[in-house]
Amino acid sequence: MPAKKKISPADVCELYNVKRWGSGYFTVNDQGHLCALPEKREDGPRIDFMEVIEEMREQKIAFPAVLRFHDILRSQVRRINTTFREAITEYDYKGCFFGVYPIKVNQMREVVEEILDAGQPFNHGLEAGSKSELMAALAYNENPEALTVLNGYKDEDYIRLALMGRKLGRKFIIVVENISEFGLIVRIAKEMKVEPLIGIRAKLAVQGGGRWAGSSGERAKFGLTCSEILNGIALLKKHGMTDCLKLLHFHMGSQVPDIRIIKEAIAEAARIYADLALTGIKLEYFDVGGGLGVDYDGSRSANNSSRNYSLQEYAQDIVSGLQQICDEVGVPHPNIVSESGRYITAHHSCVITNVVDTIHQTNSTFPTERIPDEHFLLTNIREAAETLTEKNYQEIFNDAQQNKNDAINAFKLGVISLEERARIETLYWQIISRISRMLAGADFVPEELQQVEEMKASQFLCNFSVFQSAADTWAISQLLPIMPVMRLNERPEVRCSIVDITCDSDGKINHFISQSGYDQSLLLHAQKKGEEYYIGLFLTGAYQDVMGDMHNLFGRLNEVHIYCDDDDPSDFYIEEVIKGTSAKNVLATMQYNPEMMARDVKKEIDRQVQQGRIQPREGVKLVDFYEDCLEGYTYLKFS
Ligand SMILES: *Cc1c(COP(=O)(O)O)cnc(C)c1O
Repeated sequence: MPAKKKISPADVCELYNVKRWGSGYFTVNDQGHLCALPEKREDGPRIDFMEVIEEMREQKIAFPAVLRFHDILRSQVRRINTTFREAITEYDYKGCFFGVYPIKVNQMREVVEEILDAGQPFNHGLEAGSKSELMAALAYNENPEALTVLNGYKDEDYIRLALMGRKLGRKFIIVVENISEFGLIVRIAKEMKVEPLIGIRAKLAVQGGGRWAGSSGERAKFGLTCSEILNGIALLKKHGMTDCLKLLHFHMGSQVPDIRIIKEAIAEAARIYADLALTGIKLEYFDVGGGLGVDYDGSRSANNSSRNYSLQEYAQDIVSGLQQICDEVGVPHPNIVSESGRYITAHHSCVITNVVDTIHQTNSTFPTERIPDEHFLLTNIREAAETLTEKNYQEIFNDAQQNKNDAINAFKLGVISLEERARIETLYWQIISRISRMLAGADFVPEELQQVEEMKASQFLCNFSVFQSAADTWAISQLLPIMPVMRLNERPEVRCSIVDITCDSDGKINHFISQSGYDQSLLLHAQKKGEEYYIGLFLTGAYQDVMGDMHNLFGRLNEVHIYCDDDDPSDFYIEEVIKGTSAKNVLATMQYNPEMMARDVKKEIDRQVQQGRIQPREGVKLVDFYEDCLEGYTYLKFS
């Protein structure tokens, strides 16, 4: 490889901002492969993505696929618990920390089980926001010391299920979101003869920030106003149930980008806690909700896809902010509960896809020589191409733009022919490519010409669906880190955007992280003939995994669950493979009957065979092929 084309692991990490968004969990090795460092230590276990991919290919697991690093999930659970414990020790805070994992962030059973298992030493519990999630919590959170916090709107069945948890001796806390729920809880608890644990969700005046700012503030959908809190307490008092009130909850919305919002919320909620404590309400838990952000773009800023604080700062600000007000008022320090989900799950999974094709913008290749009686637009652009120099490229750029637009209009009016248009396009892209080469050596690039690189950018067609695997990039312009997992010792030189295989023109990604902020294109390597090129979409473990839909009937992905193993030469083993949805199952969820479809197709083929239009042997093959495809994966297949 020529030296110019080489790039060092350190430089390539910098180029893709790996260390920042990866939070220490990813690095690049000397072979130019991306590696996961589940213990965040360079000298710890190191899982080479290409070795995982090799093993998957041997096992015939098709791409795209989700890779789940269970050790990263476990490490994040430990990290949040130990960081809060350290802050508590540091400030000599008297309460304890209890984390609960909100199931909605990633409901996969394996994820929930792993979090509970890793959280066992810390009594890490669950948070549920619907009846189905509550039923999962009933079955899975068996730890009598761990909390289960129950949010969301509730009906009678919801409350009965929650009180069933109490009957089983578990700490299930029903958080009242809506004033009418008080009466419901009192009545059903009496009926079931069980003492409920009740929480209240406060509607804070502090407005959250980022994309989910609407989760808090006066117009929020959830929570009780101060007067509702006091009325609710009066109702509990009337029934002699004030001692059931255990928890004060608030939630500022997910991905809070700015630490100031968290500090202000703590201050306001701590006052509510302290005032209630002064009137003799013995609240044991102060629940700060979710919102702990993930630095998706690695900028450490208050951007919507980032956060301007660390986990340590977050924990310290909560502990010290709450302590200060409790001490000032002279009330006990409550236990602290956090419902962080995004922070725990985002890093542990990624989507690996292969590039299927490259759509080159500049790929117009048509003869450009003069033709008899050609239109003057064609003559003009040819002359522009011939006179292009380092001195006049800005002028030629402007002329070429104008000329191309005029040509399209002229074509629509039937004034120029298809062949003339093809020649103009070819000349236009030749001009753009040459200007781009001139700009590469220029000290100064005029503003208008800065778009040249973006205009030239190719589109890499990747074997996945944005709607299934990266829903938030489409729905809310969430940024996800995207980079190749291989050839990282070669300097990437192709500017491109990513398009998926759905038939939806929204199925694309053209918003990327760059060293200087954001970019509409990404640098990748030119595809090589006969070699698969794998790229990864990272930090997909929170929300993306489960919010994907079946647009175009592309189903769920194959999943590979990876564990570290010190004794293994590759430091890992694949513990479980979950097959993605087959075409048959995707069709069945939309009310099709695949068996009947296969029968109908067979019947039709039989008829053609009888009429002699298809050979019997070929007919059998066609029927088998249709049935195989029904059983098959919904994505593109490559051998
Ligand atoms: C969604 C949600 C969470 C999780 O928030 P993250 O920002 O993902 O940690 C926590 N609590 C409640 C009430 C929620 O609705």
